[in-house]
Amino acid sequence: YRVLGRERHEELNHTLKNVFGHNGFRFRQKSAIVAILQGFDCFILMPTGAGKSLCYQLPAVLSKGVTVVVSPLISLIADQVAKLESLNINVRSLKGGSNTGTIFTELESPNVDIKLIYVTPEMIVQSTRFQASMQSLHRRGLLARIVIDEAHCISQWGHDFRPDYTRLNVFIENFKNPRVPICALTATATPTALADVRAHLAVPNSKLFMSSFVRENLKYDVVPKNSVTLKKLIAQVKQRYQNSSGIVYCLSQKDTETLAGMFRDGGFSAEAYHAGLSDSKRTTVQNDWMKGKVSVICATIAFGMGIDKPDVRFVIHHSLSKSIEGYYQETGRAGRDGLPSYCCLLYNYQDHIRLRNLQESDGRGKTEIGRQHKKTLYEMLDYCENVTKCRRKILVEHFGEIYDASVCQASKIPCSVCENIKTLRNDFQLYDITKDAKIIIESIRGLNLSLTYVAELYRGVISKKNQEKPSVNSHTKLKMFGLGSAVNDADAIRLMRKLVIDGFLEEQLMSTNHGGAYGLLSQSQKGLDLINPNIIINDKIFIHF
Ligand code: ADP
Repeated sequence: YRVLGRERHEELNHTLKNVFGHNGFRFRQKSAIVAILQGFDCFILMPTGAGKSLCYQLPAVLSKGVTVVVSPLISLIADQVAKLESLNINVRSLKGGSNTGTIFTELESPNVDIKLIYVTPEMIVQSTRFQASMQSLHRRGLLARIVIDEAHCISQWGHDFRPDYTRLNVFIENFKNPRVPICALTATATPTALADVRAHLAVPNSKLFMSSFVRENLKYDVVPKNSVTLKKLIAQVKQRYQNSSGIVYCLSQKDTETLAGMFRDGGFSAEAYHAGLSDSKRTTVQNDWMKGKVSVICATIAFGMGIDKPDVRFVIHHSLSKSIEGYYQETGRAGRDGLPSYCCLLYNYQDHIRLRNLQESDGRGKTEIGRQHKKTLYEMLDYCENVTKCRRKILVEHFGEIYDASVCQASKIPCSVCENIKTLRNDFQLYDITKDAKIIIESIRGLNLSLTYVAELYRGVISKKNQEKPSVNSHTKLKMFGLGSAVNDADAIRLMRKLVIDGFLEEQLMSTNHGGAYGLLSQSQKGLDLINPNIIINDKIFIHF
């Protein structure tokens, strides 16, 4: 901190206490703030709740001129503005309403004393007047810095891609001489997305401030989804977290209503929250939940971005998230106060077919973006199918952090996998299934069978329902028939799913008459390469049984 000098150093502590009301800095906050004040481009990658906002807000208060903050949602902006106003910081937001003209006049006036101005990327793109005001500030040396909040929205590979964010580079280009420093913040960026964002903003040498993504107070669990486990889960949560707040994430609006009903039957005050409700209803539900009048909110994933409720005790996923990043983000809303909280995903493999169907119904399935969506969804599936790898490790390593699973095992709140290992209930063994996989891939050629049926053929045990299939007799002559007679039903299905998730088999989506979809297995290029004697692949396929 010497670079800043002792006086500045004291000024920082003074502002932290007297303006923001905090007694000390959190991990990495101070070093980020010092770098920002020195005029470096900075990239701040910290999990939700770590205190990213302070990293640019405190420098904004101490700097000459105006800090421009780009933020994706009006609701996020409203929250930040309300907080800053309560701290008596001179802040504005551009929402395109009637006060917009006044704000431009203020920005262009000689003695502008606004410290921060929040804008959406749409506003930047659409308003030439805004751009002119920015130019005017810049000319007079009063544009302190440009902050890009939720910067992962820039990356096509992020889970929250917003097209308007990709025009930010053009906007930034305007402020070159002298160059205005850039500060980007996000709680969610994989190494690829991070590189993408840095390239887009042209800040290759930005300083990166990262804090750990490990959330020690969150218990991660995955439970098979059916009506019995769901009822049990509701009862468990009721017993453990009586009167506490929780979020239940659902795939469809209909599911949010159904789940809210089930939680009410289970003794909770629960409400549904989704885009089909009126704005006023949604606001009421959200406010009631924030105040604790409603304890459980059953919502589509649209709910929660920017919500800062410290005492959320459980986040239940009634369906898969679209990606590991999404899942980490959504579960991250639990336990911000640091107290033990529960994150449980109710898993049903079929849900991923519903998700893929939604993602691919716009015709983008075959594009690069479509392929990327499928890949991130399969990573999520892999997380759910996994029975032996520490869940914390999977989650944080996704963000490029290194984590030793023995830390999870030894912790007060181990993930469900590590807990199983600890209590010795987890006696899985690793099997090499490369040979079987090759035979399965060969056998299914041109047949278009369902995954569960292929699992039956592999075990040589055909269910009643499938015995009526017209071609069942020819299927019993396939080389894979009965190959897995020693494997139980559930493991055979897991094996097939593994082959799909790892790309050795392709699960093609077929549409039903009523807009739904189901999957049929076919050969994939990777599978064909595996069985091609002219291609030597050293990869072996292993599975835990
Ligand atoms: P993020 O943007 O990283 O999700 P926020 O900036 O919203 O996190 O901060 C989360 C909470 O932590 C806020 O309520 C904020 O007031 C609080 N906070 C931030 N920095 C500190 C600090 N140094 N000391 C105490 N509380 C802090």
